[in-house]
Amino acid sequence: MRQPLVAGNWKMNGSRVSIEVLLGGVKSGIGDVKVAEVAVCAPAIYLPQVQAQLRGTPIAWGGQDVSTHESGAYTGEIAASMLLDFGCKYVIVGHSERRAYHLESDVTVARKYAAARAAGLIPILCVGETLDEREQGVTEAVVARQLDAVIELEGVAALADGVLAYEPVWAIGTGMTATPEQAQEVHAFLRARVAGQDAAVAEGLRILYGGSMKPGNAAELMAKTDIDGGLIGGAALQAEDFLGICTAANGR
Ligand code: PEP
Repeated sequence: MRQPLVAGNWKMNGSRVSIEVLLGGVKSGIGDVKVAEVAVCAPAIYLPQVQAQLRGTPIAWGGQDVSTHESGAYTGEIAASMLLDFGCKYVIVGHSERRAYHLESDVTVARKYAAARAAGLIPILCVGETLDEREQGVTEAVVARQLDAVIELEGVAALADGVLAYEPVWAIGTGMTATPEQAQEVHAFLRARVAGQDAAVAEGLRILYGGSMKPGNAAELMAKTDIDGGLIGGAALQAEDFLGICTAANGR
């Protein structure tokens, strides 16, 4: 039985004050929510504050990106060891915004996955197609290519140390959520692809859905067999919405 995970991705949002309020709300509500696992992925500069606020709570935290390098002359980069230094458990790699705006290739993302894993962080590997790609009928080819880059670099067993997130690019921040059937179809495809190489790894692999998940649609998405939780952007910025999604995951 896979443990559901609800992970917030705050992206480049927040301030000391707003994070204080947001985490205060999440912390006070989470007591009633017996969801298996909850995490927030914060902008790196706020990780010390997140750590101070969440230490001793059931909520984990993580980064939104990580360097492929361990240390050295890489101005502006954040190493996996630095994230660990501030108690991170997770780190997102290959978010579509990094792939699109920072031109991260599949190979770079795979190297980030490897760097996170080598340090003992749990990478959340994002894959997903653009609207154009969906309309061209190449969704499966795109997500397979993105997934295979990690398998080629690290081997299929490396997926046992991570989490996969299917995030159709056309659904991110647009309010256009994939239907539960559309999402399930891709999740099942991804799991089957992994199972083709290692059935046990596939069975244990948590595959999150991300793309305009909200309290109102979370339950029906997570009711699908292969949807093991959510990666939440906009709705993770309001305690009430985030907790609503956690409640949906709890009822899964
Ligand atoms: C995301 O950025 O990972 C995401 C899923 O965003 P949103 O929930 O806002 O669509």
